Amino acid sequence: MERLSFSALADFWACPRLYHYRHELELPVPARDRSARREGTQLHEQLHLHALGHTPPLAHSTEPEQAARWQAYLQAIAPYQGWESHSEWACLVPLKLSGLNTQASEPAPEPAKTLWLYGRIDRLYVKADRLVLLDFKTGKGTPLKLLELQLDFYAWLLWQAQSQLAPHQQTPSAQPFTQIQAQAICLTEELSGPICERTLTAEKLPELSSRFESLLTSLLSPGPHDVPEPRSVNGKPWCTMCEYQRLCPEGSYHAE
Ligand code: SF4
Repeated sequence: MERLSFSALADFWACPRLYHYRHELELPVPARDRSARREGTQLHEQLHLHALGHTPPLAHSTEPEQAARWQAYLQAIAPYQGWESHSEWACLVPLKLSGLNTQASEPAPEPAKTLWLYGRIDRLYVKADRLVLLDFKTGKGTPLKLLELQLDFYAWLLWQAQSQLAPHQQTPSAQPFTQIQAQAICLTEELSGPICERTLTAEKLPELSSRFESLLTSLLSPGPHDVPEPRSVNGKPWCTMCEYQRLCPEGSYHAE
């Protein structure tokens, strides 16, 4: 079964060579800072505990940074008191992609291929035909374009996974969602609250589907993926923040 997570898709979107290094060659990341990642995981575990009805240690922390994180979190979820909620909600959505042979030398396209898209969403709130998804960020370095891609991807995935999600939709009177609102919430001392917001409606769905299907088709197409095609963010090529910068000839060029 071919399964793809958002982080793999994001790597391909950022630069096909980055995807090649990490997911095809499975090269270890040189000098990766694991402490920030570990801290993020621990914070997410505590927020999940809270969603399950427990009081996590974070709620009693007297450390200013941790206390600020907790307050920012409480503020972010306050508007959804009384809504049905799901924490760390995982979904697996099948997507049929056809026409994977895009090269002119390949006359006949391959039959449609099923790709399983995987997502784990920090928090979901459901009320009638509205769905809100929150993604908690514990660092502040994610570029805006990447945040937008992530929220669009999760909203798009959830739109297709509606029937897996809401029990109320399985009743005869159920209505499908008319709106999915996705927010990235920053939980740091210096910056807290929503830092990016996207809304998906039925009108926007075809454009989003075509954008993701085209990206996924290109990712799954045969042929070399080791092409250096770094995106530019904030006026700089992705190489300047790529974890393979010193390994990759293109990245070395941009390294100081
Ligand atoms: S250093 Fe630049 S070209 Fe090389 S993999 Fe990273 S983003 Fe791509």
